[in-house]
Amino acid sequence: YGRIQLTGCTAEMLRAGGPFPQPEAVPYDSLAAYIEGGGYDLLRDLRDGRLSAEDIIAQLGEAGLRGLGGAGFPTDRKWALVRSQPGPKYLAINADEGEPGTFKDRFYMERDPHRLFEGMLIAATVTGCEDIYLYLRDEYPHLRGTLALELHHLRESGIPGDIRIHLRRGAGAYICGEESAMIESIEGKRGLPRHRPPYVAEKGIFGRPTLVNNVETLFWVRDILQDGAEWFAGLGRRGHKGIRAFSVSGRVREPGVKLAPAGITARELIDEFCGGMAEGHSFRAYLPGGASGGILPESLADIPLDFGTLAEHDSFVGSHAVIILSDKDNVADAALNLMRFFAHESCGQCTPCRLGTEKAAALMAARQWDEALLGDLAQAMRDASICGLGQAAPNPMMSVLKFFPEDIAGKRP
Ligand code: SF4
Repeated sequence: YGRIQLTGCTAEMLRAGGPFPQPEAVPYDSLAAYIEGGGYDLLRDLRDGRLSAEDIIAQLGEAGLRGLGGAGFPTDRKWALVRSQPGPKYLAINADEGEPGTFKDRFYMERDPHRLFEGMLIAATVTGCEDIYLYLRDEYPHLRGTLALELHHLRESGIPGDIRIHLRRGAGAYICGEESAMIESIEGKRGLPRHRPPYVAEKGIFGRPTLVNNVETLFWVRDILQDGAEWFAGLGRRGHKGIRAFSVSGRVREPGVKLAPAGITARELIDEFCGGMAEGHSFRAYLPGGASGGILPESLADIPLDFGTLAEHDSFVGSHAVIILSDKDNVADAALNLMRFFAHESCGQCTPCRLGTEKAAALMAARQWDEALLGDLAQAMRDASICGLGQAAPNPMMSVLKFFPEDIAGKRP
């Protein structure tokens, strides 16, 4: 656990502390402090039979806990499915956090790593996983050191028992946040998304049943079991269950990680949690789900933000990365920037995505947008791409055509 591989860094990068500037160290709860606050008691209760796996799964279901990496799949159903599979089984924690505008998992891991570790040990025990792979994005080198150190202390304490925990380093590829590409990468291969079925719950790491959970999903497990499913479910708004971290950036007065109710609207998020719009900016548009979830106008800012609520606008909340744009922003330019990002990050495995993103970016850079051609291209990408990257890449472009045609260069006054 103390060994950290630093392949891919030049000597200068290593001397400078890693390939990216090091943020200031954030104080966090050590193992001793975490245990003093009752940490790992629930894990002991589970192992000693005072808490059953069935009870835990039922409580997560009542709490309405869902996959907070972006897909929103009910956590209880995922755990029950993997639990029913034959061993050996694996648990993979997705800490790749590559969706533009998303930085909440970093926030949790920097401040309270053992709450994540307890969540993952409970998950592994409930589902019968023998190995845990914590897959951390390359762009968080400061966190890699913290996590390696705390995992070392955890192992020394004997708390993980027979469960082995592996800290794996990503290599800066956005696509490795897609669960099957992450699994390929964990296996030591190039991160290419797999065709499904079979789903990873049946055939994941090394062809074995695998539970894949996001950092934030596991972070909430201890609190839900300790304070009750009803408490957690009741934190939501407008009938939506739970609380979650929104990564808010863009033209707001106070951007950052905001712990807010599920079902809050973008307008409420800005007014109640971000101190309103930044000086000199008026609210014009927002991206509800990072680069992938489309771009919505201010007139649609009163829709509850949760899984499934934005579908009629070809949009989704995903990893809850909310980016606010103002009257000073050109939405068509923002969409072009995102399409170039997708073209750069496409793994190249399938034609509609590899060529579609490049072609769309070239067409969008023109003064006039060929609406019919872009519409055809978007349809082909959505219908025929293997994974979510290619399927979602046209979303911002189509949002511009639907809501912000006045921003396209050729149509500007
Ligand atoms: Fe790769 Fe794009 Fe195809 Fe996904 S959709 S498998 S990223 S080429």
